[in-house]
Amino acid sequence: MTTAVERRELLKEVWKEASTCTKCQLAETRQTVVFGAGNADADLMFVGEAPGANEDRGGLPFIGQAGRLLDRLLQEVGLERADVFIANVLKCRPPGNRDPRPTEIATCRDYLHKQVELIEPKVICTLGNFSTKLLRDDPTGISKVHGQPEVHVLGVRAVTIFPIYHPAAALYTPSMLDTLRADFAQLPALLAAPLPPQPAPDVFEPVPEVEPEPESPAETETATAEAVEGAPEAGAEVLEQAPKTSDDQLGLF
Ligand code: URA
Repeated sequence: MTTAVERRELLKEVWKEASTCTKCQLAETRQTVVFGAGNADADLMFVGEAPGANEDRGGLPFIGQAGRLLDRLLQEVGLERADVFIANVLKCRPPGNRDPRPTEIATCRDYLHKQVELIEPKVICTLGNFSTKLLRDDPTGISKVHGQPEVHVLGVRAVTIFPIYHPAAALYTPSMLDTLRADFAQLPALLAAPLPPQPAPDVFEPVPEVEPEPESPAETETATAEAVEGAPEAGAEVLEQAPKTSDDQLGLF
């Protein structure tokens, strides 16, 4: 099992890779890759849409008006940014804050999946349509599913996905604030609940031991040699996955 310290170091490796990403055309117009920020071992992750102008300049997610509202809503349920990890579907700002395009979402999706895999959150709060559709893998819009927690298997883990409206919606439609507050109020109970039942791991099937019944000592030697040759090299995979460390970029999480 990977420790929280190892997962954090691996997350920094993903950050390094993402910070110079040129996989889509947003690399040509962005100022900064906004990877995400917060507690790398958080139980609660928020996933927004894409960086806006402030985030593109500052390199951190949700630092504009919508971010201030997010901070307030967090405080109202006894949480703060340092407790959670905040990321976006896209790591780069679409020019003029246009909607993310399907090809951009598909190209950027692996970064988000790696973040989820390494942070191991218990609850993922999807903010608005884009992250809700992506992580629920379903086109149903936010207005139909907000406030309704659902367990989904992402990668090898089962997590609770909790869709809520994007905080920016409440900036344009103030009556939306009550709905957002009511949905946020469910968060403490969701976080206090046990982790959803996890899918059975891919069980390593050991090669059954062959117990030949030799008729002579010479046959015993041959049979043993064959059994060892055919066995998989247990441990080789584990060694390849040893954590890499890097001490730079400590500021973000
Ligand atoms: N809106 C988002 O979806 N993400 C941000 O980081 C900022 C605004």
